[in-house]
Amino acid sequence: MSGQMILVVEDEPKIALLLQDYLKKAGFKSKILEQGDIVADYVQKHSPDLILLDLMLPGLEGTEVCRAVRKFSNVPIIMLTAKVEEMDRIIGLEIGADDYICKPFSPREVIARVKAVLRRVVPELERNPRIHGPIRIDDELHQIMIHEQILSLTPIEYELLKTMISYPGKVFSRSELISKVQGYDFEGYERTIDSHIKNLRKKIAKFFPDQDIIRAVYGVGYKLVTPENFLNTDGA
Ligand code: CA
Repeated sequence: MSGQMILVVEDEPKIALLLQDYLKKAGFKSKILEQGDIVADYVQKHSPDLILLDLMLPGLEGTEVCRAVRKFSNVPIIMLTAKVEEMDRIIGLEIGADDYICKPFSPREVIARVKAVLRRVVPELERNPRIHGPIRIDDELHQIMIHEQILSLTPIEYELLKTMISYPGKVFSRSELISKVQGYDFEGYERTIDSHIKNLRKKIAKFFPDQDIIRAVYGVGYKLVTPENFLNTDGA
């Protein structure tokens, strides 16, 4: 884990420096920002591995910072709040934070939580495809959503769609796809992949009425093409 970069957003210098000190001892790099309104820009440019985000901040409140960052990034966010009541409130807001720590905290506790959250995070390469236009993949829940609607998928369909979304345009051979769904009581015959793909296509067809985003590639297998309406419907 050494060398991972933690962004500390905290306007009280004493707390920020204390955290930085402990993070350094734990082998992390860190950067302190004291204002909320410059966080999203910083995250976009520097891609920190995790954000410790104070709730009460000059410029932009922590909850709004969290929302702003979530529009483009899955970076883990741990909120720091001064009161238990505040914590209840922000949890209720479902702003997309990964964890919450109440002030006053022991720096050791913060480091332990940072490590715990980072352990849960899938590596960057697998994390990137999790938000793909209107398609969201939730690895923890084994769910795929399109335009915020949860697809009702079998475990095999979930793995197949997840695999193809991860690399739009890449042609997957049937044997490659079979290797992805092994362990799911799958018979392993190539033609059974075809029937799973057929069912999958039916389930996602209504979201992409003008085109088939899963395409057969003759003699090879299947690929997922980036839907044409990805850009103009994202965030709609
Ligand atoms: Ca503060």
